[in-house]
Parts: sequence; C-alpha cells; structure tokens
Amino acid sequence: MSDLILFWHRRDLRISDNIGLATARDRSQKVVGVFCLDPAILERDDVAPARVTYMIGCLQSLQKRYIEASSQLLIVKADPQKGLPALATALNASAVYWNLDVEPYAKARDRAVQEALQQAGIVFQNFWDQLLHAPDEIRTGAGEPYTVYTPFWRNWISKPKAEPATDFQNAIGLTEQEQKNAHKAGGIALPTAKDLGFVWDNALLLEPGEAAAHERLEAFCDRAIADYQEQRNFPFNAEGTSHLSAALKFGAIGIRTVWAKTTEAMEQTRSDEAQDGIRVWRQELAWREFYQTVMYHFPALADGSYRKPFKDFPWDNNPEHFKAWCEGKTGYPIVDAAMRQLNELGWMHNRCRMIVASFLTKDLIIDWRWGETYFMQKLFDGDLSANNGGWQWSASSGMDPKPLRIFNPASQSQKFDAEADYIRQWLPELRSIETEDLVTGKILPLERDRCGYPAPIVDHNQQQKRFKAIYQQQKEK
Ligand SMILES: Cc1cc2nc3c(=O)[nH]c(=O)nc-3n(C[C@H](O)[C@H](O)[C@H](O)COP(=O)(O)OP(=O)(O)OC[C@H]3O[C@@H](n4cnc5c(N)ncnc54)[C@H](O)[C@@H]3O)c2cc1C
Repeated sequence: MSDLILFWHRRDLRISDNIGLATARDRSQKVVGVFCLDPAILERDDVAPARVTYMIGCLQSLQKRYIEASSQLLIVKADPQKGLPALATALNASAVYWNLDVEPYAKARDRAVQEALQQAGIVFQNFWDQLLHAPDEIRTGAGEPYTVYTPFWRNWISKPKAEPATDFQNAIGLTEQEQKNAHKAGGIALPTAKDLGFVWDNALLLEPGEAAAHERLEAFCDRAIADYQEQRNFPFNAEGTSHLSAALKFGAIGIRTVWAKTTEAMEQTRSDEAQDGIRVWRQELAWREFYQTVMYHFPALADGSYRKPFKDFPWDNNPEHFKAWCEGKTGYPIVDAAMRQLNELGWMHNRCRMIVASFLTKDLIIDWRWGETYFMQKLFDGDLSANNGGWQWSASSGMDPKPLRIFNPASQSQKFDAEADYIRQWLPELRSIETEDLVTGKILPLERDRCGYPAPIVDHNQQQKRFKAIYQQQKEK
C-alpha cells in the first residue's frame, strides 16, 4: 500500500475550506482528487444543460487548482461503485475519502461504494462538510429531527459555527507511471458539457469556479447584504440577492467561508438596518440547511407530498396549461416574465419562484411535482432539497404549519414590481402597455392581440375557489 489518499469530489468542487480534503492532506502529502461522471445522474430526465455547464466549468477550475497545489484531479466516467475501487486498486491507494451528502440517491450510492471498497481491501472515510451543522446535530429537546423551520432556526443559530478548514496546498501528485495506470483504470480527459450532450449557449449568472464564487461573496457582503432585508423581494433588482446558489449547490465555495464573511460584515457595521440585512441573509442559509436536514431524515419527501390531504390529490394536470406555464404564455404577465427568466437564464428570482409555483399548483391545479421536475430541467442551481422544499412549501403539501397560502399574481406584481420593470424586461412585446395594466394584468383583448400576447388561460378568482373546495374535500376524507 502506498501513502496515496484519493479524495472523491462530489458537490464540493473546491480545494479551499474543504473538511474532507483538508483532513486527507493532514494525514498524507500524497493526495489526488477524483471526480466521477456518473451516468445514473447524467442520464436522468431532469438534468439542466445550464447546471452541467456550470459543473464542468467548476471542474476545469478545480483541475487548475490541483495543479497549483502540485497534484492532480482525475476524471472517470463510470458507475462510482465500479470506477472508484478500480482506480484505487490500480493506483495502490491506501484510502478513499469524501464528504457526505443528504440526498437519498447519494446515500444509497455511498453505501454501495463503501461495500465495494471494503471488498477490495481499501479503507474509506467520510466527513460532513456541506452544512454548518450536520443533520444529526440539530434536534428537538426530545431528540427528534425538526419538521418546522422557526424552532430549527432558533436552535441552529444558537450553536457555535466552525472556522473555515485549512486550504489544500503543497501536495504530491501521481508519478508519470501512476498517471498511465490511472488512464488504464478509466481515467479520461475532462469532457465539455457539449461532449456530454448538454448545450447551454447563454451566459451563466455566475462564472464557474472558486475564484468567481469568492469574488461574488466579497462583493455581496461588502455592499448589498446591508440592504438585503429591504431589497431581496424585488425581482428587477439584480443586486438584491447574492446569486451564490449554484456555488453553494456544487460547493464552489465552503459554507464556513460564507459564514465567516457574514460575521466580518456584522462586525464592520453599527447600523441596525445593515445588521438586520445580514441576519435575514443568514436565515436564508439556514433555510438551505433546514431543507437538507429534513431531506436527510425524511427521504420520502423526494417521492411526494408530506401532508395527507395531498397524497392522492385530484390535480387537473391539463397538459396544455402546463405547456403554457413552461413557455411563459399563461396571459399573467408576472408569471410569464418569471418563466421566461428561468428559460433564458437558468435561474429565477426567489419571489418569482414562489409566484409561479403558487400559480401552477393553486391556479392551474397541476401536480407540484411537474413543476419541480421542470425547474430541475432548467435551473443552474437546481438542488433536490431546496427545490423540493420550495415546491412543497408553495403547494402547501410540505412541512409547514401555515394554512393554505395562495398568491394573487396581481397583488404580487403591485407589491414587488410596482413599475413593471421586471415584466417589461422579460416580456418585451408588452413594453408599450401602461404600467397599471401590466401589474394588474388587466390588458384589453385588443391590446393583447396587437402585442401577440395570450389571454389569461384561467381565471384566478375562480380557480382559487375551486382549489380551496378540492382541498377541503381532501381534508375531510
Ligand atoms: C419553488 C422553489 C424552488 C426552489 N428551487 C431551488 C433550487 O433548486 N436550488 C436552490 O438553491 N434554491 C432553490 N430555491 C430557493 C431560492 O429561490 C434560491 O436559493 C435563491 O433564489 C437563489 O438565489 P440567490 O443565490 O441570489 O439567493 P440569496 O437570496 O442570496 O440567498 C443565499 C443562499 O441561501 C440559500 N437559500 C435562499 N433561499 C432559500 C430557500 N428558500 N430554500 C433553500 N435555500 C435557500 C441559497 O443557497 C442561496 O444561494 C427555490 C425556491 C422555491 C420557492
């Protein structure tokens, strides 16, 4: 056995503030990274080209980071259960390390990989890295996992947070002969997203890689975070939120680094308003942890509704309505603007995610899982826990004690896009329409025809009454 440790990257595409990688480097100087392009993930029907493009970009940047640290990042395209033991055996590695994940597929895959490594006589070790608090750390007084966010948050914020892990550097990589062995055992050059069949020609909202994520964090915490509480709900304000979601999903930045930056921002301000902004942004980071924690403890969430009335809900599931929603052609300007933003950017503002999700489930009465899948097919930050959590929250089918929540598209526009700037940005055909008509959605049929913009496909008032009636029946069943 050599002293080589293979570090398996999954959603931690960075060498800074990476607990598993830092521990590997503590134990041995000879540490080499590996990333497995897993066909079971890439061949799913909900993979977004924008997301794969971002991920491959992060891997390109990670390869450079490894070279700077005098080591390498290997790429294999294989079922990890076969590819990793084959590579570890060919390289005579002493151990394989990785950071853990909360998703049901990842948990099952990791168990299979552990068994395969054990059979091959290779040691493995894993760590919690992607959360500030591992799923078992935050429990109720009775020792149960939380199912409600607010008490989870109170407990979560009261716990001390870890400092960023040591950067990976000054390592030893593979010899030329070992590189040849890696190649024979399945090592390949990093393909492009297009090589893998994913075409995304639009710009990404955030450049891939560690450097871009760090720059974005710095810029956000230096300025916008102070106004976050005020500005985060206005979708036209491109500076209102951090746009770090894809970096957090793929681990282009470490969560402890993000937290440390918020502490620094907190220390640098005396303004109550700025401190509130920082606190509210931290609450969003806690939502991310809440949804991952509940996904870990309640994996059935990934398969369907949590609450009983939604288990066999008689959704309308009209395919034409669904198509109109996907294409941004429902005749409701704020909904259509948001869907066009999603289709074009691979990202949608959080306020609009809530509006379109409410519209799909409560106005079109379409199964929230259709929307969940469509989001995953488009979002460059698409993440099972956050997406499922957001959809179940919007559908009222999830872990949320609040009564039915139904968003009125007109009042949402009036509140959060009062000048219709966002609507005009994404629906250029409506630019000449009066602001008042755009936000209320009351556009004359003649004007709609002139602009080539569809009539509303359903009536909001009628549909919300229908939805409530169906829900009541389901509850009484
Ligand atoms: C229906 C629906 C689907 C969603 N799908 C996803 C998804 O697939 N991936 C995803 O990362 N987020 C998802 N969200 C949450 C949220 O919309 C995005 O995280 C946010 O818009 C990303 O933009 P940002 O990075 O500028 O966020 P910021 O406002 O700057 O927030 C900072 C970070 O906190 C986390 N965060 C913020 N809000 C939430 C939230 N409600 N739930 C979980 N984490 C949150 C994200 O990691 C985000 O990057 C969804 C929300 C809804 C309502």
